[in-house]
Amino acid sequence: MEHGITRSNSNEAVACGHCGALVFNDTKRCPQCKKFPAKLHICKKCKSISADSDDRCWKCGRVFVPGGDYL
Ligand SMILES: [Zn+2]
Ligand SMILES: [Zn+2]
Repeated sequence: MEHGITRSNSNEAVACGHCGALVFNDTKRCPQCKKFPAKLHICKKCKSISADSDDRCWKCGRVFVPGGDYL
């Protein structure tokens, strides 16, 4: 009899990038801080999404608030 180990990654818990609470990979909103768990900037002007390491919007050039403007 084979072991029924499922190799699904969708149920893995990760730490929220904002508050550190454990959330699941497919979580859209952290239950603790209500933000998108991965730190991604969203431009308030054109709604484009940029990486946390970016300091300005790739599309319109708007500078992000340091530590803010997250999804
Ligand atoms: Zn959080
Ligand atoms: Zn923009």
